[in-house]
Amino acid sequence: MSKESISVFDMLKIGVGPSSSHTLGPWRAAGRWIEELKTKGHFAHIAEVSVDLYGSLSLTGKGHATDIAVMLGLCGFDPVTFPIENIDKDVAHITSKSVIKLNNELDVPFIPKEHIKFNRKFLEFHPNGMIFRATLRDGKKVTATYYSIGGGFVVQQERKRAKQKLEKFAQFPFQIEKATELLIHCDTEGKSISEIVLENERSLRSDEEIDAKLNAIWAVMLDSMFVGCHTEGKLPGGLNVQRRAFDMHKNLIGDATYSNPQEWIEAIRGTEVKFRQILKWVSCFALAVNEVNASLGRVVTAPTNGSAGVIPAVMMYYMVIENHDANFKDVKQFMLVAGEIGSLFKKGATISAAMGGCQAEIGVSSAMAAGALAELMGGTPAQVQMASEIAMEHHLGLTCDPIGGLVQIPCIERNAMGAIKAINACEMALDGDPSHAKVPLDKVIATMWETAKDMTSKYKETSEGGLAVQVNISDC
Ligand code: SF4
Repeated sequence: MSKESISVFDMLKIGVGPSSSHTLGPWRAAGRWIEELKTKGHFAHIAEVSVDLYGSLSLTGKGHATDIAVMLGLCGFDPVTFPIENIDKDVAHITSKSVIKLNNELDVPFIPKEHIKFNRKFLEFHPNGMIFRATLRDGKKVTATYYSIGGGFVVQQERKRAKQKLEKFAQFPFQIEKATELLIHCDTEGKSISEIVLENERSLRSDEEIDAKLNAIWAVMLDSMFVGCHTEGKLPGGLNVQRRAFDMHKNLIGDATYSNPQEWIEAIRGTEVKFRQILKWVSCFALAVNEVNASLGRVVTAPTNGSAGVIPAVMMYYMVIENHDANFKDVKQFMLVAGEIGSLFKKGATISAAMGGCQAEIGVSSAMAAGALAELMGGTPAQVQMASEIAMEHHLGLTCDPIGGLVQIPCIERNAMGAIKAINACEMALDGDPSHAKVPLDKVIATMWETAKDMTSKYKETSEGGLAVQVNISDC
C-alpha cells in the first residue's frame, strides 16, 4: 500500500483515445523525455531518436495506436489540446517524409517502422515499459526508461516517484489511504465524502481553478456523448465494427429538435423513459463515448480510456432521468466522489489492465460511478462505499482480452454493462444497511489486487487469451 495523495484531476483527465495506458501514457512519456533532453542540454545536439516498446505496450500497441501516440509526443504536441482531426495528416507527413520534427522545432530522420520497435519481452518493473534512445551528433548515446502504469500515469523510477508521492501526500489536510480512513474523516468532521475531497483539492488549487477544471472535464464528457450519438459508420482499425450509438440514439430521441449539447439534455428529458428506454439511454451514452474513444477522439480518461464511458453515462443518467434540475453543483459533487473512489483503487490495487485485467478498468469505473451516484441520491458516506463495493464485487476477475488489440470488442459494450451495474449497485446500497454489509470496500479492493496477481498475463492487455484468440479477426 503506497502513501499517495491523488487529486481528482489525476483520476479524471482530458485526453485522446483509444487507451490511457497505451496511447495517453506513451504520448506523455515521449513529451516528458523531450523535456528531459532539453533540461539536460542534449536536445539541440540530437542526430537520431528511436523508441523500444515492451510487454503489453508491444503486444497490443498497434491496436491501441501506441506508435502514433509516441510520434505525436515526440513532436511536442499536448494530448489535451491537440486538434485530433490533424492526427492522420501529421502521422502521414512523418511517414512519407521519413522525418520527425522533435518538439515541433528540430528535424531528425525517422522511419516509424524502423525507429519504433515492438519487443515482446517484458521489462521488470511494469508490463508497459518503453525505452527512449537518442544518438547525439558527437556519437554519444542517451536513453531513458518510462512506464505507463495505467490511467495515463507515467513514471520513470519507483524510488523517485515514491519520494514525490510522500511529499505530495503531506499536503492533504485529510490523508486517506483506505476507505475506512475516509469514513472516519467523514464521521469526525460531519462531512460528506465530496466535502472531504474538496478540502483536499483546496490544498492544491483555488476554488475557481477546481471549478474551471471540473467544468472542462464535464464539457468533454458531454461532448464525447453528443459526438458519439451523432456519428454513424464503422470504426477504424480493421474489425469493421459498426457504430451503434447513432441508431440507438435516433430511435430514442425521435423527432426532438436541438442544436447543441445543452439543448440536447433538455430534449432527452422530454422523451419517454420506461425501464427499457432507461437501459437504452444509459447504454447509448456509454457506447457513444467509447466509439469516440475507439476512433482516436477526445474523451476524459476516467480512470482509463477503455472505461471512459461509464462515468459520463451514469452522470448523464442522473441528469436526464433522475433529476431534471441537476446542474454543475451536482456534476462537481459526482466527480469529487468518483475521483476519490478511483484513487482508493489505485492506492490499494491498480487501475492498469496490464496489471489487473478489465476489473481494473471497467470494474473501477463502475465502482467510481456507483459511489458518486449514491452520494447524489442522498446516500450516507457508508452507503457510498457500499455502492462502490457492490459494483466492484461483481466485476472481480474480469479479464482483458481485446480482439485484435483494439479497444473495441469487448471494450465498448463493456462500458454499457459497467454503467448499468453502477446504477443497480447504487440502488442496492441505498436500500441497504452498511452496518450489516459483510464485505467492506477495503476488502474488495484487496481482493481485486489479489485476483490481479493470480490472473495469467494472457488476460492482462496482451490479446493472447480469451476473446482475442477465440475470435478470428478475419471473421470480423
Ligand atoms: S477489455 Fe477492458 S481493460 Fe481490456 S482494453 Fe478493453 S476496456 Fe480496457
